Amino acid sequence: MSTAFKPVTHVIFDMDGLLLDTERLYTVATQNVLDEYGKVFTWEIKSKQMGRKQNESAQLMIDELQLPLTVSELNQKLGKEHEKVFPTVDFLPGAERLVRHLHKHNIPIAVATGSTGYNYELKVTNHKQFFSLFSHIVLSSDDPEVKNGKPAPDCFIIAAKRFSGSPAPEKCLVFEDAANGLIAAHAAGMQVVWVPDPRADQTPFKDTAHQILTSLEEFKPEDFGLPPYDS
Ligand SMILES: [Mg+2]
Repeated sequence: MSTAFKPVTHVIFDMDGLLLDTERLYTVATQNVLDEYGKVFTWEIKSKQMGRKQNESAQLMIDELQLPLTVSELNQKLGKEHEKVFPTVDFLPGAERLVRHLHKHNIPIAVATGSTGYNYELKVTNHKQFFSLFSHIVLSSDDPEVKNGKPAPDCFIIAAKRFSGSPAPEKCLVFEDAANGLIAAHAAGMQVVWVPDPRADQTPFKDTAHQILTSLEEFKPEDFGLPPYDS
């Protein structure tokens, strides 16, 4: 982990498992589908999927678990589960405070997620005002400019480019929970605060993450030259 942080001017957030508690819901929904096939959704498979585009993620699961399904069949089954649970999702600790704080201080903020537009709308059902605070939302699964999903850097490069003034990568700070997202942001040349799932193996990524936190509540904006919290 680097201890010398450079000041940033712009901030890019992942969404699932970082701002919103959707990763927990994805796990429940996926296991519900896999029960039908007597398969177990292990952390090993989940950690490979997190952050990826929807179709890449589905193909990975079909291959790993040898499911007798096509990508579109699997997506359809998962979709039915997602429709039930996503509209109920809540914020993860510290997310709302940090985003509202940065917005209040006119720090440009964006979201870069692997999600589809359809799932995004389900997830933000009860959080429309909050997500209106972002300057833009990059939805990797549906965005024609995002050729490759995380761990490729595309979505972060595009998120930076779409800010007014297109800041340089080193002026952007990324918040991620997934290893795939951490790798993607690092490849984009950005500083990354990693808030991993407690099950994640942190060892291979000690030098990739600039800061590793157990919760967004621990983040100190002044570490990266951003306005500190009032109290
Ligand atoms: Mg995530």
